[in-house]
Amino acid sequence: MNEIESRWQPKNEKPYVYDFTLEDWQQWVKDNGEAGFRAGQIFDWLYVKRVSSIDEMTNLPKTLRDRLKEQFDFVTLTEVAHYRSKDGTVKFLFELSDENAIETVIMKHSYGNSICVTTQVGCRVGCTFCASTLGGLKRNLTSGEIIAQVVKAQQLLDETQERVSSIVIMGIGEPFENYDAVMKFLKVMIHPKGLNIGQRHITVSTSGIVPNIYRFADEDTQINLAISIHAPNDTLRSKLMPVNRRYPFAELIEACQYYVAKTGRRITFEYALMGGVNDQAEHAEELAKVLKAFPMAHVNLIPVNFVSERDFVRTPRNDIFTFQRILERNKINATIRREQGSDIAAACGQLRAKHMESGAR
Ligand code: SF4
Repeated sequence: MNEIESRWQPKNEKPYVYDFTLEDWQQWVKDNGEAGFRAGQIFDWLYVKRVSSIDEMTNLPKTLRDRLKEQFDFVTLTEVAHYRSKDGTVKFLFELSDENAIETVIMKHSYGNSICVTTQVGCRVGCTFCASTLGGLKRNLTSGEIIAQVVKAQQLLDETQERVSSIVIMGIGEPFENYDAVMKFLKVMIHPKGLNIGQRHITVSTSGIVPNIYRFADEDTQINLAISIHAPNDTLRSKLMPVNRRYPFAELIEACQYYVAKTGRRITFEYALMGGVNDQAEHAEELAKVLKAFPMAHVNLIPVNFVSERDFVRTPRNDIFTFQRILERNKINATIRREQGSDIAAACGQLRAKHMESGAR
């Protein structure tokens, strides 16, 4: 880890019980002179039975439970509130042990429940249309703090015998700037003895951290990749997304081509439409030209959410359809994202921003 990265690392005294993969627990029980099967039991209590304290792990000897309590913290997230939208979307506001706040969303779809998780407290990428970046980056989340969001969501869904069927890593933060924690999180999510979410039902979205797109391509997973492209050329992208000055458009496209060649998988390109900025017919034509290099590309058009601190206005409905039609005429598959949870400020970062304004962190 370099010096810049270490600045953003969490400073918790003890690790969280959720910070470990099954292999980590196997190593821990071995190092502590416990029988190997104890690792599976701990994992089962955390992810299948989903208990809320070490004391509830009743098939572990008391001495082992005491050692776990000595060495690990259990409570990683305290629920400040959860809001339920008319369309079924649920948004959680959680407080971390250092009193920072994060958001997690459950979205209801016809095919199941999708969870949108946060990977950092704030974000330093600085996209000009995003509320999450307004206070800058405070710190990275640990893998356990990311995992705990899904466990909490699943605990709520347990009340109605539902389950988390897919995960999008599109909440607050840039996942590829907290790469190792995100990879560990994914390992636990897909583990058959963990939450057992199918790899193809998980999507990681990046603003374009090019070196980690290459790393991710080499990971050999079936997990989906989404790229927040939001502009069809270098100049406009640099205006909207300062990350483009670090990793220019051409380098991003090259990294995406490497990913497709290496994995044989398609990429979803996220495109937030901002009225009069990047939503004109010529932008759609230009984007189509760029994406011709990706025969299986899919574009997700997102009508931008209004953020009080930002000047952007929504693209009129007809213009959204025109944009979509131009892409499709050029044989680029394009869908328009359904708006969810608009009555509960479900857009990324809005609840946290309100919580911060109220004097909390
Ligand atoms: S859109 Fe994502 S990457 Fe960009 S500032 Fe917001 S949280 Fe960060």
